[in-house]
Amino acid sequence: MNIIMFGPPGAGKGTQAKRLEEALGAKQLSTGDMLRAELASGSEMGKALKTIMDAGQLVPDDVMVTLIKYAMESPDCASGVILDGFPRTLPQAEALDAMLKSSGKVIDHVLVLEVDDSILLSRIQKRAAETGGARSDDNAETLKKRLDVYHAQTAPILPYYDKQGLLRRIDGMAEMDDVTAAIEAAIGKKKAA
Ligand code: AMP
Repeated sequence: MNIIMFGPPGAGKGTQAKRLEEALGAKQLSTGDMLRAELASGSEMGKALKTIMDAGQLVPDDVMVTLIKYAMESPDCASGVILDGFPRTLPQAEALDAMLKSSGKVIDHVLVLEVDDSILLSRIQKRAAETGGARSDDNAETLKKRLDVYHAQTAPILPYYDKQGLLRRIDGMAEMDDVTAAIEAAIGKKKAA
């Protein structure tokens, strides 16, 4: 099963994608995590990426498409993927479609975790405290830019999937376990007794 998870920064995509990974046996692919691994390597590429990410901007589409293409070719993605943070622009969504088509695969569900902007800041601040500030983009100023980018560039691709009948809207403000249950119901997977 191939799933895309959408949602603003701090919506809980990563947490829910991880839970789904365990439940479905599909592989979570977090483009943010991949980029942060490159940052941590201290490479020149990592330094350039850090500048973009700390500004709350998007990494160029061609870089992201190459990254995800390479990741999806890995054997552990054979039984399905949960895309967490990709696509973020319409060109990325179109590139993903072409990629899947050429390997005879389809997207089964597109999930949107809906969370009001007003509560994202406290979530991001909580994460920053819990992770000891591991992510330099988890601060009020960068969050504002990331949110602007989400609304301007990512949210407008939702109709693309809605037209295909794939979009499932999930209340991301519910309790974490209830969000998981809502996702499992939306994708037709019954919660284990
Ligand atoms: P995330 O961990 O998903 O919140 O991503 C952190 C940052 O990585 C984003 O604010 C972007 O700068 C960058 N990033 C992650 N995924 C993508 C993508 N699909 N396209 C462009 N930039 C991305």
